[in-house]
Amino acid sequence: MLAHDMVKEYFRKIIGDEGLQIIMNVPDGEITDEEIARLSDTKLTQVRKILYTLYENRIAEYRTERDDNSGWVTYLWRFDYSNVRKLMEEEAENKLKELRTRLDREKSGVFYRCKCQRVLFEEAAAMDFRCDECGSDFEYVDNKDLIRELEAEIDKIERWKEQIRSS
Ligand SMILES: [Zn+2]
Repeated sequence: MLAHDMVKEYFRKIIGDEGLQIIMNVPDGEITDEEIARLSDTKLTQVRKILYTLYENRIAEYRTERDDNSGWVTYLWRFDYSNVRKLMEEEAENKLKELRTRLDREKSGVFYRCKCQRVLFEEAAAMDFRCDECGSDFEYVDNKDLIRELEAEIDKIERWKEQIRSS
């Protein structure tokens, strides 16, 4: 699953390039944080930071083993990539919701701009088209380009979501 570019991109976002390099070097099955550090030639503190981020994202889990003689506790980590697709879909869904709300607002409103803010026609009219804050005049804003950009972004994420589903 990690071979997939989209999945890599997702991981890069949550754990960075270094984190991605580390987990790509981890073999299947249980492994201790010390082993991961050794395999990836990375500081243990850095490895632990990455593991906890993955843990918080429900991608890594661990169990502990206590040595009865020494009392030493070992953390055995395991990766569960089955959640990744779901998390990616959730992220796409949230992003789509946000973009659609913005698109609706842009499509249904008429916008005016002064030197300090961008407001709806109604607000500009209420101030007689002169801003209370900065004193400059409100001018009409053509938001066609912005609407096109938002639509393109929505398209892109919808395609991405389809790819996740079929991957
Ligand atoms: Zn202003």
